Amino acid sequence: MRWFALITLIAVPGWVTLATVARGQTPRDATGQNKETPSASFVRQPLASGRMVDLTHSFDRHTVYWPTEAGFKLIRNAAGVTKQGYYYAANRFEAAEHGGTHVDAPIHFFQDRDTVDKIPLTRLVGEAAVVDVTEPCASNRDYQIDIEDLRRWEKNHNRQLVDVIVLLRTGMGRFWHDRRRYLGTDKTGQAAVAELHFPGLAPTAARWLVEQRAIKAIGIDTASIDYGQSKRFRSHVTLCEHNVPVFENVAKLEELPTAGATVVALPMKIAGGSGAPLRIVAILGK
Ligand SMILES: [Zn+2]
Repeated sequence: MRWFALITLIAVPGWVTLATVARGQTPRDATGQNKETPSASFVRQPLASGRMVDLTHSFDRHTVYWPTEAGFKLIRNAAGVTKQGYYYAANRFEAAEHGGTHVDAPIHFFQDRDTVDKIPLTRLVGEAAVVDVTEPCASNRDYQIDIEDLRRWEKNHNRQLVDVIVLLRTGMGRFWHDRRRYLGTDKTGQAAVAELHFPGLAPTAARWLVEQRAIKAIGIDTASIDYGQSKRFRSHVTLCEHNVPVFENVAKLEELPTAGATVVALPMKIAGGSGAPLRIVAILGK
């Protein structure tokens, strides 16, 4: 008798649904169709329908670091079949915070601002606004992206640069494997810094973005948000003062539409870090 009571209880549809949810499975309705909650389908929709673009350069011995920094070091340790019969591989790595595709945390250029572990996730995930300045940068390596370039994006899309992740497409990303063309010099050490030539964001435009607009974050396909010839890094200072994270050495910006992509940019969570290696991807709509 007790057995019958138990079976009856389990057979009640409501209980079956609860048990299914508790096991982490998608509930199904009477027709066998998936019955998702609105919030679940909202999260899955862009992931399921969109193409993903990896905006990250790989970290290896060729990865571009600032001329005064040592490069990325992968220190090989174990790799092989153990005495117990299973395969095992594990390495160590050594790297500066700022090199390759990485984030500048606001504390990088402004005291008492967010360290990398404190950057709110809401600033690292959002809609991309890709500002294309490939043309002026092709004829001038020292080009500084100005307010007019940003305004052109606004005019073309009939909206302001608010609540977006601005990505500056200079076209320099295609030279990534050629340090001399990417940075303007293939020399290293302090003396090489004066020979850096690549485009960046003009300090007046950085100020306009933080005072007249409200962006989540900003990224660029060069080694620095300030242009190569900058001496005082005033765009860094302005953006960091206003807690705007900066993504540098971003890859494949030429594959993104100027609007409509979703960016997810997750740095390594280094407690107290001034920056960190960044895995950044874009999800394109249909
Ligand atoms: Zn940096």
